[in-house]
Amino acid sequence: MTSPTSSSFTRRAFATVLVAAGAVVLDACTGSGSAGASGSARPSGSPVTTAAASSAASGFNKKKYSTTDPASIWVVVNKKHPMQPKDWAPTDLVHPAVANVNGQPVRKAAGSALVAMFAAAKAEKGLTLSLQSGYRSYQTQVRAYAAAVAANGRAKADRVSAHPGYSEHQTGLAVDISAVPAAHSLQTAFGTTAHGRWLAANAHRFGFLLRYPADKVRVTGYDYEPWHFRYIGTELAQYLWRHKVKTLEEFFGVSGGTSY
Ligand SMILES: [Zn+2]
Repeated sequence: MTSPTSSSFTRRAFATVLVAAGAVVLDACTGSGSAGASGSARPSGSPVTTAAASSAASGFNKKKYSTTDPASIWVVVNKKHPMQPKDWAPTDLVHPAVANVNGQPVRKAAGSALVAMFAAAKAEKGLTLSLQSGYRSYQTQVRAYAAAVAANGRAKADRVSAHPGYSEHQTGLAVDISAVPAAHSLQTAFGTTAHGRWLAANAHRFGFLLRYPADKVRVTGYDYEPWHFRYIGTELAQYLWRHKVKTLEEFFGVSGGTSY
């Protein structure tokens, strides 16, 4: 898709996203910052792409894959952007040959990358990792969210459990990773363990992004989750790492935040 914007605008918009990321992301909720978007019709609720088209400054083609197609490895799912349709399910789920705590599958590309990443953790640092959670269906999330509300109330549930149709796990590209033997599974302290630190420093090599960093709660809408990684492919994951961009929302100029 070609953007009508000039390359100079694209560079300015890109810089704006990086420099004033929080403000852009939050403001984008109202549709502001959409000057760079083309005039073509978008489905309601779809992201506003502030940093339109490819970045002429970087040479990175931000439009290579869709950020709204649920089957895209770059799809952005957050509290402003549910799966479309909400009950979408992947068609290429596999059970990767790794220790799998809950037995949940993941999409094929994510599974291959996971196998390679776990092998590297073992070979390089002697660390054993397991897949704690992978794909969760819409109906599974219906039950998970209801259980979270029942246990802790709606406000607390919303900080840790996604509404059905809004969970990144429904893409089949998100994984929760634990140590073997289990230690601090699904706890903030996992980030301080050798396993958590290795993952944070190396996941990008295999196409994964630490999706919910501690300093980006207002952008992603989720508390720090050092165990939750999202497969986005090596091209984007390594680019984000090199340029110190921590979230998909900031990179693509997609709205996010803690409220639905
Ligand atoms: Zn997760």
